[in-house]
Amino acid sequence: MTHFDWQATYQNLFQHLAGQGLDGWLTALKRQLTQRFDEQPHGDMDRWLAALAQLPPMGQVSADLEACAITLRSQPAPDAATLAQVEQALRGLMPWRKGPFDFFGVYVDTEWRSDWKWERVAPWLADLSGRQVLDVGCGSGYHCWRMYGAGARRVIGIDPGLLFLCQFLSVKGYLGEVPVDLLPVRMEDLPAGLEAFDTTFSMGVLYHRRSPLDHLLELRDTLRPGGELVLETLVVDGPEGMTLMPEDRYGRMRNVWFLPSCQTLLRWLARTGFTNARVVDVTDTTTEEQRATDWMRFQSLEDFLDPDDPTRTVEGYPGPKRATLIANRG
Ligand code: SAH
Repeated sequence: MTHFDWQATYQNLFQHLAGQGLDGWLTALKRQLTQRFDEQPHGDMDRWLAALAQLPPMGQVSADLEACAITLRSQPAPDAATLAQVEQALRGLMPWRKGPFDFFGVYVDTEWRSDWKWERVAPWLADLSGRQVLDVGCGSGYHCWRMYGAGARRVIGIDPGLLFLCQFLSVKGYLGEVPVDLLPVRMEDLPAGLEAFDTTFSMGVLYHRRSPLDHLLELRDTLRPGGELVLETLVVDGPEGMTLMPEDRYGRMRNVWFLPSCQTLLRWLARTGFTNARVVDVTDTTTEEQRATDWMRFQSLEDFLDPDDPTRTVEGYPGPKRATLIANRG
């Protein structure tokens, strides 16, 4: 059993949290990480750590965090055998869902074009320069890197998925000490009343929550007064008050609870203490944005839509449509 040295991985973050006076969070976090990694380790973690350990050393590494793909380059460029080793190691971390990434020329074509979401969100953000940012449900951390590339002072992503953490570390391992971290915890694991972040993102998470209003209250709690919430979630067309609750699955996904209309979402935000809430984008999700690839070989959106009417899910619900809303903590 390989031991994941989380103390070393998070050493800088721990120092930062202590320096910010966030000792309460730090204590709770260490307890949660001990439980996650030492007391109840995930059965696949050994295999993923072995894949990470297979990634070969590189020369002088530079990153482009503003391109569509999170891009790593090495000086001198790696030879073909080294590149093959990079590819083999990264394939050990499949399926890759959120990206894309370009590791020294190995292009990881992920299920999602997460860059498209970023293009829809980024123009509306308060300038991230100098801001401390939280990305709730960050997946592989693709958007965390884009946030850092857009000038954020520090980015903390949280996502309970440990494969996502290993995918994130495959990038971070090449970058040395950068103030971008992914913590394998849930939103509900953060202490109440944190008020530590200038911008908090919740993208693709709200519809997975059985208590969406509690999720909004938890998000509010992470923000300093006046801080900015960026909320992206599935919505349906309809008037204020309307919400779709699927009978069971939605687009084959389990654990989909509430798909509100945009007007309903605005009301929810107002009732949970946000001001200045506005809808900045509404876009249908297409089978170009979410599709099976060589790096994610399971079924994808195309298989979740009605073949006779691709505007509907296989269950007969309206096809996926996503809205981005921005609001401030009152
Ligand atoms: N934010 C990314 C990924 C969305 S997928 C994007 O928009 O592209 C939703 C993610 O939320 C999954 O990776 C899942 O592991 C995570 N998630 C689900 N429930 C969560 C919770 N309670 N707290 C934090 N993350 C959660």
